[in-house]
Amino acid sequence: MSTIFNKIINKEIDADIVYEDKISIAFKDINAQAPIHLLIIPKKEIKTINHITAKDKEIIGHLFIVAKKIAKQLNIDNEGYRIVFNCNDNAGQTVFHIHMHLLGGRKLLWPPG
Ligand code: 5GP
Repeated sequence: MSTIFNKIINKEIDADIVYEDKISIAFKDINAQAPIHLLIIPKKEIKTINHITAKDKEIIGHLFIVAKKIAKQLNIDNEGYRIVFNCNDNAGQTVFHIHMHLLGGRKLLWPPG
């Protein structure tokens, strides 16, 4: 079953897209939890971290390369930012297409709630 993120990938619904290439797309989270809150997702549909296979290594690594490039562009690379992947219910995953949250622009608390 496709998710709302597949509709964003296919441009069937609007999103504030900040980056796109053949493997991934990054857009602003609709319910931002920080001044910078982006979602970086693979175009390949992978439901949860539990569904990642060895074949996906390059895709997953690519998400981190995109994240660090965006962080540099937004000038938060030195001050710092947080990368989060939620997996399933206890972590609060609501969209079952894996997505990397990139959060920054303010001091982030630790541990998270
Ligand atoms: P999760 O809780 O699954 O880790 O994160 C899902 C995220 O997707 C949430 O932060 C939520 O605000 C965001 N989100 C859900 N639907 C949409 C949408 O249609 N557009 C955008 N830009 N973000 C969405």
